[in-house]
Amino acid sequence: MNKNAEKLKERIVEISHFASIASLLEWDQEVMMPKKAVDLRAQTSAHLAALIHKKYTDIDSDGLLSDLKKQLDKDELGRDEAIIVRETWRDFEREIKLPEKFVKELAEVTSKAQSIWAEAREKNDFSLFLPHLSHVVKLKKEEARLVGYENSPYDALLDTYEPGMKTVEAAEVLGDLKDFLIPFLKKINSSKEKWDHKIFRGNFPIEKQMRFNESVAQKIGFDFDAGRLDKSTHPFTQGIHPHDVRITTRYKKDNVFYALGSTIHEAGHGLYEQNLSAKQFGTPLAQSISMGIHESQSRLWENNVGKSREFWKYFYPKLKKEFPTPFNTVNAHDFYNTINSVQPSFIRTEADEVTYNLHIILRFEIEKDIIEGTIDLKELPRIWNSKFEDYFGLKVPSDSLGVLQDIHWSCGLFGYFPTYSLGNLYAAQFYATMNKQIPGLKNKISKGDFTEIKHWLNKNIHIHGRTYSAPALLKKVTGETLHSAYFNSYIERKYKDIYKLT
Ligand code: MG
Repeated sequence: MNKNAEKLKERIVEISHFASIASLLEWDQEVMMPKKAVDLRAQTSAHLAALIHKKYTDIDSDGLLSDLKKQLDKDELGRDEAIIVRETWRDFEREIKLPEKFVKELAEVTSKAQSIWAEAREKNDFSLFLPHLSHVVKLKKEEARLVGYENSPYDALLDTYEPGMKTVEAAEVLGDLKDFLIPFLKKINSSKEKWDHKIFRGNFPIEKQMRFNESVAQKIGFDFDAGRLDKSTHPFTQGIHPHDVRITTRYKKDNVFYALGSTIHEAGHGLYEQNLSAKQFGTPLAQSISMGIHESQSRLWENNVGKSREFWKYFYPKLKKEFPTPFNTVNAHDFYNTINSVQPSFIRTEADEVTYNLHIILRFEIEKDIIEGTIDLKELPRIWNSKFEDYFGLKVPSDSLGVLQDIHWSCGLFGYFPTYSLGNLYAAQFYATMNKQIPGLKNKISKGDFTEIKHWLNKNIHIHGRTYSAPALLKKVTGETLHSAYFNSYIERKYKDIYKLT
């Protein structure tokens, strides 16, 4: 390796070790930390974040990165060096465009906005949140201006989470998805088939559930010698490094699926983190590509695999054995239909596979307009409710169940929502390709053999780190650009069967 590239690598690996400590502290805060530790822990984390930021902005203090960037532009670097320099430059360039004063102000404003948002949601009072939201939006527009963009200021924000994706591309692919979903949902709603989760209600001791969740995560390939599964209020995945990946879930005593879906979802994220290259730790060669690609890994396991007939052909007898009441009285057919039942509802995080993306599309359309400045923020509740009725056929009864339900905007996470749906689309496209390439895949799943799925994902996605952009990877693996047709036909096939549609 080129001497300068070697030096750069040392610098970014060192920063990654500090970032590992920060990740571990975050996990600890959500899972283990005693109550009284909150204030001092916040200070510890702030000091660590400042240290990391300083080390990061110092990367190019002697012109090392800039020189390497010149070599990259002249095509003078080897393959791995070129990827490391290209991606480090990408992150660095964005970072240095944002002055420290701006970053500090954004952190303060969003921190305040988050606590006001929680209060406003509690009191169902949008007017309380409005001035804080306005301030956050003003700063995010400023961020877009500082970072720079060609067409829409929303491009500059979307790019943080889905590098390279343009607003028009997202709008087109999500528009196609919406055109399919709205009429399809109407068909489902008019079907006579109804499936109610109530038939699952029972008493499921948490200890017993935890063991079952662990056994499922382990069976699909999550390595418990390089990871853990714990409890937290909101499920998440924290990759400390590929040999230490922490996932969490949450449990309800009367509902066994509340935890299971999250466990499989987070295990999917965890499998991505565990299968990044340990040898290349700390460099872009061992980092995930984008939020959308990360989400594709969780959705593929949670939905495409984890809510399939074959998956439960294997796991249902095991679930019945653990929890004979109520499952001994529920046959496999009713069980499968019920875990996949479609029920339009107000809350995104409780949505099924069909309605979930409509929740996202609604948010994407609104936040795009907010950042492009075509919406008066005072009008948000009205705009939200009117779109909601158009898409779901439901009247939103309160802002707490509507525009105030998600934390994202208070945190300044504009551009983040679409990655959830992009994840579903990537997942469907990857899964369709995988089905063509692994003979007898469904049969293997029904026998509890998940090794080939895991290997396929390792080989085609995980191991590359940020070698390819998301569009380039998709093209390489599936031979096509991103479009919604794979997702649409997956949904159509599955739900026509469940709801006996013609
Ligand atoms: Mg996720």
